Amino acid sequence: MASDAKIICFRHCCSKSIFCKNVPKICPICRSCVVDYIIEPFLVPYPYSNAKYEPTSIVVRPSEGTFLNDYHIADDLHIGITNSDGIVFEYDKEGLIVNDCAKWTNCIAINIIPSSWENHWNETLKLILKDTKWKSENYHEMTMNCFNFVVEFINNLQYMNVNFVNKETMCDKLILPKLQDAIKYNSLFKQLKSTEFFIS
Ligand SMILES: [Zn+2]
Repeated sequence: MASDAKIICFRHCCSKSIFCKNVPKICPICRSCVVDYIIEPFLVPYPYSNAKYEPTSIVVRPSEGTFLNDYHIADDLHIGITNSDGIVFEYDKEGLIVNDCAKWTNCIAINIIPSSWENHWNETLKLILKDTKWKSENYHEMTMNCFNFVVEFINNLQYMNVNFVNKETMCDKLILPKLQDAIKYNSLFKQLKSTEFFIS
């Protein structure tokens, strides 16, 4: 995480949380000196990570721009899969793309398997990469895109009861919860660009 993207949270004198970039000397709520806390300052978990450090994950990023600075809820997302070495595989109008890692430094990573499933994950990935249907000629913006690729991969994996009838259900069940955390973070980040504190 870039240091200017950090957000600190603490509680001083009441049940309200104070979000800030730097802990102030004077509490913005009670105006007294900040000596001790109801909740000690902690870093709000940063929702984004670099795909290369997120092995065996489903990775998501905006089709254009970055989550933190450019993303709005209706914007298109792009999705890929990392193997156990953190190499990203994705399908788009160019066909299968392997490790375009510069585009995946600020993504949401979702891990759905325990480490004992790593080998099976890699093998399932190898098999789907061999399937010739994932070529650029077959790409279709609505019916044959990066999400179809990931849905098919997850369904082939057959891990527990994780499978999706279509990409809409995958988005609702797998991606939306993570995306909501990220959007909350973005909104705090935006608030703290124009004010020193955000109290909630
Ligand atoms: Zn206070």
